[in-house]
Amino acid sequence: MLRAVRITVTGVVQGVGFRPAITRLALSVGVNGYVKNLGGGEVEIWVEGEDRKVELFIKSIEKGITPTAKIEKIIINDAKPNNFNEFTIHKSSSDSLLISEVPPDISICEWCLKEILDKENRRYAYAFNSCAWCGPRYSIIESIPYDRDNTSWKEFPLCPSCIEAYNDVSDIRRFHGEGISCSYCGPRLNLLDNDLKLLNVRDPILETAKLINEGCIVAVKGIGGYHLACLASDDEVVLKLRLRKHRPRQPFAIMALNLEILKKLVLVNDKAEKLLLSYERPILILPRTADANVSPLVAPGLNTLGVFIPYTGLHYLLLMNIKDKFAIMTSGNPTGHPMIIGEEDLKKLTSVADYFLVHNRRIINRVDDSVIRFTRGEAVFLRRGRGYAPRWIETNLRFSRPVIAFGSDLQSTGAIAIDNKIIPTQYIGDVDEYECYKDLEKYLYRLCNYYKINPKDAIIVSDLHPLYSSSLLAENWSNKYGSELIKVQHHKAHMASAMLDNLHDIDEPAVAITIDGAGYGEDGAIWGGEILTWDSEKIERKAHLEYQIMPGGDLATKYPARMLVSILSKILSEEEIVRLFERRGLIHYFPHGFEEFQQCISLAKSGRGQLTSSTGRVLDSVSVLLQLCKERTYEGEPAILLEEHASNGREIKLLTSDLINYKDGIIPTTKIICQLAYWIDNTTSQDIAY
Ligand SMILES: [Zn+2]
Ligand SMILES: [Zn+2]
Repeated sequence: MLRAVRITVTGVVQGVGFRPAITRLALSVGVNGYVKNLGGGEVEIWVEGEDRKVELFIKSIEKGITPTAKIEKIIINDAKPNNFNEFTIHKSSSDSLLISEVPPDISICEWCLKEILDKENRRYAYAFNSCAWCGPRYSIIESIPYDRDNTSWKEFPLCPSCIEAYNDVSDIRRFHGEGISCSYCGPRLNLLDNDLKLLNVRDPILETAKLINEGCIVAVKGIGGYHLACLASDDEVVLKLRLRKHRPRQPFAIMALNLEILKKLVLVNDKAEKLLLSYERPILILPRTADANVSPLVAPGLNTLGVFIPYTGLHYLLLMNIKDKFAIMTSGNPTGHPMIIGEEDLKKLTSVADYFLVHNRRIINRVDDSVIRFTRGEAVFLRRGRGYAPRWIETNLRFSRPVIAFGSDLQSTGAIAIDNKIIPTQYIGDVDEYECYKDLEKYLYRLCNYYKINPKDAIIVSDLHPLYSSSLLAENWSNKYGSELIKVQHHKAHMASAMLDNLHDIDEPAVAITIDGAGYGEDGAIWGGEILTWDSEKIERKAHLEYQIMPGGDLATKYPARMLVSILSKILSEEEIVRLFERRGLIHYFPHGFEEFQQCISLAKSGRGQLTSSTGRVLDSVSVLLQLCKERTYEGEPAILLEEHASNGREIKLLTSDLINYKDGIIPTTKIICQLAYWIDNTTSQDIAY
């Protein structure tokens, strides 16, 4: 009996070689019809033929797909046969029936890599080799569906050989691969000098490697933006990079040619190995080996290194020719600005980079490298970017109206929500900086556009902080579109996201401990050490760390010694504080020395100033007590150094009656710090950090 079905498949099904795989499946099973991309990111398949063959086809869909595709839903509707006499790939349509994911960037696959390393292959040493299973996606997509014409590839018409491969159903990885190319028809590499003048070199990659080997810093255009590349083993080179980037201590990431090289630098367990080799290729923060040939200036004061392995042919070809087989690959951003993606902005990097390795495939969406660390053996995102963005997160909630969320200001990410899904933007950065602010707006617009959300119909959500740039942007949108605006307290938002992450049933109560640096509180204080409860209707603050004054406001975040003075001044006299600081050699932690120190004590003793219950500020003060951090040069630095220092520590006894019998939901941090100050001469600083 003849049967026809219309099948709709959602998930990561565009840009991952799905339609070619379906075509091969149809041909092997012997059914007719078509497959095409739809505008919501989903794929429509029509098959007709003998009943049992159609049945076999449906059963085989999941088995027949490519390694990077991910099926979420298969919807099957019976239809009247249309008498197709072949199976073909139809032109995409922009109709959208369902929503499906915009594909993330996928690292070069092993087969494409083999080709560029094979001297006999026509793609030998071709830096942009990619196929239906791999290559850039989100970073080069202008609109969905994912078709060549909707991406930066549209500027590179296929050559006859590539057209042949595109139409050859037996070419498993290139048949209807939207992002294929070769050295004849693909992007061109060029090397520019510091005046951005084109250098006449035969092989720009080899020349770049040579320059890096000689100690130069070269800006290299990658998938989602520019990197700065230089030797990681040479103190002088790393120091040069730090000085030029005005980045005194924040660690730089290292890219190593392969796992074997990487294992000489860091300790890699099975979990880490899997992630390093995954197609997302994140940066992992791992413990460094004792004899890693890496300059101490790469990650000052830390026993860890941020590492990753190449994710494009370009990176492989470059690393192969670098003498160490590993190199610093840090974001190519001018101080305080987002990573550069376009050649028109290269002049902003001329004070940092000596040379520029550029190419002419446009980057549409900036996507920073993702960064992951392990906390108690579990992988935790520090930054969600390339490889993961803009994949969605499914929740156990259903949003009756679309939501557009603007995040907070520091290290921020926006998000939209539709149906039961939350789709975060890629990592944006510090939105208090104008370019990042514009980026937040740009990428929220793009998500709305990809997923066909009209801001008029959406609920706008922002942080409660009245002065955050992200809050102002949200207000602008709300005014412009007349949409409802909801302001959410920072840590309540953290609790809600933790509940969603754990698929917590919202009808059940929950408790959260939020350990954070800063978030605007409902009482105008800066919160960051809160115990919150959920009773299936609302989140309430039940307890928090004792309020401490931040003498000098934000200065107390930059110079953590101010926090230590503030906390101690509640119990100790001025003379006692002076004695302690002199004994610990901490007076010079104040840039202006003793006078500034004294002024800080008076400020603290006056009881006036911004109040905070931040855990970060308490940890900062311990970090000062242990002489670990004088000035915070990057987000979380004092606490990160403290954590490192604690790794060899043992537990010390604190007088717990002081700490547990707290009243009115206030956890007495002053008493904790004072007890630590008494311990300081009687045990190791590692124990105190612990
Ligand atoms: Zn490939
Ligand atoms: Zn070609």
